[in-house]
Amino acid sequence: MGTLEGYRQAVYHAGTRSHATTTFTCNLCGRSNRLPETPPEPETPTCASCGSNVRTRGLIHMLSQELFGSPLLLTEFPRVKSLRGLGTSDSESYANRLADRFDYRNTFLHREPRFDIVHPSSDEFGRYDFLLSSEVLEHVLSPVETALQNACRMLKPSGVFVFTVPYSLEATTSEHFAGLHDFGFAQLSDRTLLVNRTSQGEVRVFDDLIFHCGGGSTLEMREFSEAGLRSLLATAGFTEVRIDGEDHPESGIVRRYSWSLPIAARKGPFAFSKDATRDLAEQYQESQKRLQSLLRSFLLRLALKMRLLGQRAGAKRNTSNTGRP
Ligand SMILES: [Zn+2]
Repeated sequence: MGTLEGYRQAVYHAGTRSHATTTFTCNLCGRSNRLPETPPEPETPTCASCGSNVRTRGLIHMLSQELFGSPLLLTEFPRVKSLRGLGTSDSESYANRLADRFDYRNTFLHREPRFDIVHPSSDEFGRYDFLLSSEVLEHVLSPVETALQNACRMLKPSGVFVFTVPYSLEATTSEHFAGLHDFGFAQLSDRTLLVNRTSQGEVRVFDDLIFHCGGGSTLEMREFSEAGLRSLLATAGFTEVRIDGEDHPESGIVRRYSWSLPIAARKGPFAFSKDATRDLAEQYQESQKRLQSLLRSFLLRLALKMRLLGQRAGAKRNTSNTGRP
């Protein structure tokens, strides 16, 4: 059975793609960058300004499509404070801007503000228009069904869960530590072991651990498959799943492969609430007022300039008339 890394290696030398454009605009910060000649690794920073990569740009591209039906730059998102969102260990490269635009808060498992999607407070249910999660679900404790069911319960009926996670095209999701119950880590020479006692009292030691960027909290618990994810999402209560397999070279989103793509899962059709619609309408009216004010100011300056030019031309004519014999 091929591993995810195997798939990555298999396409690493698959050649280059040609795109009509040679530059892209980072959809996180708006900076213009040169498009790499070959599709970069998803984690390679390719925006010279904010350090965004294909994964983070793909995530925000998907969020924009889901909320506004259009791939807006994050810097151009309308300010809709009645839209409520929650992030789990989101990158600062987009979390701060999201907090500026929406009623959004970023959270963490091991530091404040804390939040554990496996054990959310019941106060969190039905509150959110969107949830964001990038490279988190492969690390949450088993059964992962609990985390996905909680995500679904936390959303409003029209809410959307936008996330990325490493997944393969295998038939099923592979859980690395089935029956994890009472467990801890042990250090043996230069190796970290996971020791588990199952609910039946059986002790088992695992030594083939995969850590993402070090630390016990980033232990890879499973390798999802696309089919397995779709099945898990449906079981959790999501009725619609969209996977963005398109390249978007204008935003620097070009990929080497067709898995581990951004996913949007919905409970129902997305719809703006009355409050969100009012926020948008007020913002539109405000922008129209600003535009009219700018236009008036421009026309006034233009009129003054024309009048000044007219006065100068008149004065010149008078001078030349006076000088006539
Ligand atoms: Zn950027």
